[in-house]
Amino acid sequence: MSDQNLQQKTIQKLKAHNLYAKKNLGQNFLISQKALDQIIQASNPQPKEQVLEIGPGTGNLTELLLATGCDLSVIEKDSDMIPILESLQSKHPFKLINHDALKVSPTEINLKPNYKIIANLPYYITSPLINKFLKDSFIQQNPIPKSLTLMIQLEVAEKICDQNKLNVLRANVISFGEPKIIAKVPASKFLPAPKVDSAIIHIEVSPTPKVNCDLHKYFQVLHASFSSRRKTLKNNLKSLAKAWKFDLTELSQQTQVDLSKRAEALSLKDFEKITNYITTHTS
Ligand code: SAH
Repeated sequence: MSDQNLQQKTIQKLKAHNLYAKKNLGQNFLISQKALDQIIQASNPQPKEQVLEIGPGTGNLTELLLATGCDLSVIEKDSDMIPILESLQSKHPFKLINHDALKVSPTEINLKPNYKIIANLPYYITSPLINKFLKDSFIQQNPIPKSLTLMIQLEVAEKICDQNKLNVLRANVISFGEPKIIAKVPASKFLPAPKVDSAIIHIEVSPTPKVNCDLHKYFQVLHASFSSRRKTLKNNLKSLAKAWKFDLTELSQQTQVDLSKRAEALSLKDFEKITNYITTHTS
């Protein structure tokens, strides 16, 4: 469908239900056929494969997902969108959940290991969503997704994929998978156009974490290390060293991690070493 037709179709769906795009729910509907196709291609849902779409809105992406024959569940927070989505159910049955994606329990909605996540979502829930469905799945032993294909703010996508500099979100992602940018999507491809450009990213999840250490401690170490961006590791880790009773000088000697660096210069291996040192040197 041409982008113009897609735009018309989206406007008509909203009008027919007396709706408008809600800013507080981050409603920017995707009106680029190319971008929709790129999302489907990156995720590549197979017939009967379990797929979770988060924030379907007026269902432009949902329709393409249904055409793949996948086993689809969608979670939409806005009850006003539900009648629009219900009208798609007559053609192809799928599971429609009217809930906040950040509040559902993955097992309650019957997710099975290796399901795929697809979402074009409000930007403000990018980090919480990645943390909930990726990091927390590993830590809380919930079903682990096979991949996440997400439309997010371009700047955030570039941070997640920046191989030269670590940050907390990138660390959370690469501890469990391989992220890559599929395509940049200009703001004009959304209705209404947001202030910033977007990008489609695809995260292929690894079946086991990329680090071999106590994950609870690892994330506490990561968060402490990044707590103040300008400070060195030595300064950021001081309070943890005091609380957990380990010695920073000895840690540095044994792990060979230079604590005068900032956390952004470290690798996951460094954080793994620090965590394993702490695990064996504290009670
Ligand atoms: N995916 C659609 C809609 C994008 S707009 C498209 O590409 O056109 C973002 C959608 O996410 C909206 O429908 C909004 O209501 C929904 N949403 C916002 N916060 C949500 C949350 N916490 N859980 C589930 N859906 C949410």
